[in-house]
Amino acid sequence: MTFRQPLLVLSLFWLLPSSLWPQTTREKADLLVTGGTVVTMDRARTIYDDGAVAIQGDVIVAVGRRAEVEDEYQAQQTLNARGKLILPGFINGHTHVPMTLFRGLHDDVTLDEWLHKYIFPAEAKNVNQEFVRWGTRLAAAEQIRAGVTTFADMYYFEDAIAEETRAAGMRGVLGETFIDFPAPDNRTEAEMLAYTEKFLRKWQGDALIHPACAPHSIYTCSRKTLQDAAALARKYHSPILIHVAEMKKEWEDSQKQNGMSPVQYLNTIGVLGPDVVAAHCIYVDENDFQILSQKQVGCVHNPSSNMMLASGVSPVGKMRAAGVVVGLGTDGPAGSNNDLDLMEEIDLAAKLAKITQMDPRALNAQTVVEMATIDGARALHMEKEIGSLENGKKADLILIGLDQPNAVPMYDIYAQLAYALKASDVETVVIGGRLVMRDRRLLTVNEEQAMARARQYKDSISQSLAMP
Ligand SMILES: [Zn+2]
Repeated sequence: MTFRQPLLVLSLFWLLPSSLWPQTTREKADLLVTGGTVVTMDRARTIYDDGAVAIQGDVIVAVGRRAEVEDEYQAQQTLNARGKLILPGFINGHTHVPMTLFRGLHDDVTLDEWLHKYIFPAEAKNVNQEFVRWGTRLAAAEQIRAGVTTFADMYYFEDAIAEETRAAGMRGVLGETFIDFPAPDNRTEAEMLAYTEKFLRKWQGDALIHPACAPHSIYTCSRKTLQDAAALARKYHSPILIHVAEMKKEWEDSQKQNGMSPVQYLNTIGVLGPDVVAAHCIYVDENDFQILSQKQVGCVHNPSSNMMLASGVSPVGKMRAAGVVVGLGTDGPAGSNNDLDLMEEIDLAAKLAKITQMDPRALNAQTVVEMATIDGARALHMEKEIGSLENGKKADLILIGLDQPNAVPMYDIYAQLAYALKASDVETVVIGGRLVMRDRRLLTVNEEQAMARARQYKDSISQSLAMP
């Protein structure tokens, strides 16, 4: 053997396809998603045309060009994403999931009328643990189908909601409601505090569930209730979810009673901070922007809800310019928006800003996609964990198909996502490394059963309200 032969063998080896290289050179991953266009939403907004994502356990260990990721990792399971978009899962920053069972109960009335004449009585008569379980299960099916991997919820019996959410394999920031009247689960503030403290303790450190306190709003909670809920949340380093400046009456009443805006009032009584998620923020001015930005409050814009209730328009562009973080939410899914389709909110957020300002440049496609992903994560104070496809983040990702008539041709990915693609184009969903939907087949929720129960609930709820 001459000295040239080993060199020849070595050089031939490098010409072999990477799949034939010795397996020992590659690290093990649990799941490889390969071949699609990876829209990372990282700081540089990197997009890999022929990309791949490697997942170990519930975290991402590699994102990049397919050839490079495949050279580095071999996996037990591979998802072929060729011809599809791979995105971080969408983040629904504000909703009330069990209310799926009240979907369409009574629409086309004012928020005040809807709350006091319809929904509070309907809740008093119908909401119990069983109700929230079925409502949450139905909502999980609907949200997974729409590519939502994380949602922030405010409701009652939140512990049961947490159990259903975890069973569905979804990530949730789940806020138990504080309100100054007897709620379906807790009749007094003392009971609310005791229930919520137990709830916060139980779910501390859970991989999917982030328990939270949710004082409903300044118009349904006294100063004491707001402060007690915030203090309890802070004792457990939990988020505080609250409706803020969501209607004109709330702003006017705050001026009368407190001599200041709702945002100023919440700041004055010590509620605002970097753990607060404020839904709506419609009646906010320059002064409020400064407070929200300085206190690092995350705001959540709900365009469908604001339009459906004619509540007003949140000045999203101005807030963002002032340094306020703004995510997106569906609100509802009853009375204020009857579905949980966050892709619709992406589209509407852009269009609502455009028509309000009479300027098509008001919010662009990339901005609204950011609001549904990385900025949604920032609004929930979870940007270290979710919101983009990057090494070390949780493996929450979705595959969107591009082979329907509404999906072709594609010149610009963000424009396609914002204005052309629909929730029904979401094909596969992975949350924390676990497949929860594959090729439009749900793997963690029995949706037939959930839909059948929802139809039964319609009958019993209608009877309880003596509706025809
Ligand atoms: Zn709400």
